[in-house]
Amino acid sequence: MTAVDVPVDVHQPAPAGAPLPVVASLSPSRASDFMTCPLLFRYRSIDRLPQAPSSAATRGTLVHAVLERLFDLPAGERTPDAAAALLAPEWDRLAEAEPEVTGLFADEAELAAWLTSARALLDGYFALEDPRRLDPAEREAYVEVLLPGGLQLRGIVDRLDQAPSGQLRVVDYKTGRSPGEAFEGKALFQMKFYALVLWRTRGVIPTRLQLMYLGDQQVLAYAPEESDLLATERKLLALWEAIERAVQARDFRPRPSKLCDWCDHHAHCPEQGGVVLPWPSVVPGPELPEARHAEAAARKALAEEVREP
Ligand code: SF4
Repeated sequence: MTAVDVPVDVHQPAPAGAPLPVVASLSPSRASDFMTCPLLFRYRSIDRLPQAPSSAATRGTLVHAVLERLFDLPAGERTPDAAAALLAPEWDRLAEAEPEVTGLFADEAELAAWLTSARALLDGYFALEDPRRLDPAEREAYVEVLLPGGLQLRGIVDRLDQAPSGQLRVVDYKTGRSPGEAFEGKALFQMKFYALVLWRTRGVIPTRLQLMYLGDQQVLAYAPEESDLLATERKLLALWEAIERAVQARDFRPRPSKLCDWCDHHAHCPEQGGVVLPWPSVVPGPELPEARHAEAAARKALAEEVREP
């Protein structure tokens, strides 16, 4: 079944007096949501339905936290054992900040097995590069830019490396496996998004975009050109227009795909036998609040987005 012949009314009448939501900013995850399935985008970005934590996404968050902390250590101490030693304290920190993640494990043995699987991913990282030889310029770097027309692009870059010549390398860790050739373009979309923001804010096109897949120890790298980033910008502006049209029409259709297996919203999806939720009567405010709190709030919002494993 395609998006155009869904046999249900997914066009939602507006509750009297309800303002339309403002979609003023996009992160790579949210842009991907809309391209994957407009209804998924609606539930995540407009209704802001809570998402249950998953073992894979939580492991991704934990491994990212360890890899960030690893570079706090003196270069010579960044060993596999040192990284493994960071797992427990980072898990404690995560469990304190998000107590619901502790419910993922039935008992201590399950938690221990899961931590062992996180250790295996860290070992995968060390198979790809030696952090003792690196001196990252930035880690977990919040980046944002306002495009002409008012669309804000925002995101958090796992790592930025800068050569003495000023050349930039954008690095993103993935705790899953590398995509097949047919899906490399989709994987690189996120990296081109970051490269566009960096280019527009710093005036430098990153020399290399590097996705590091810890699950199968593969690296996907790409050297972007100006034409790539201009095409990405056009794509994002077109996407924003499509989102605006969907908001005006209150029409976010489901688009089923293999990714439905990872979707939390089957109960509210007609493609899965569910019923579409009524349009929210209380529409949340703009995605980002006023400027003085924008960065902190954006960081929190981005951290709450599902981290793709
Ligand atoms: S189950 Fe699939 S089609 Fe339905 S909302 Fe989720 S991603 Fe979209």
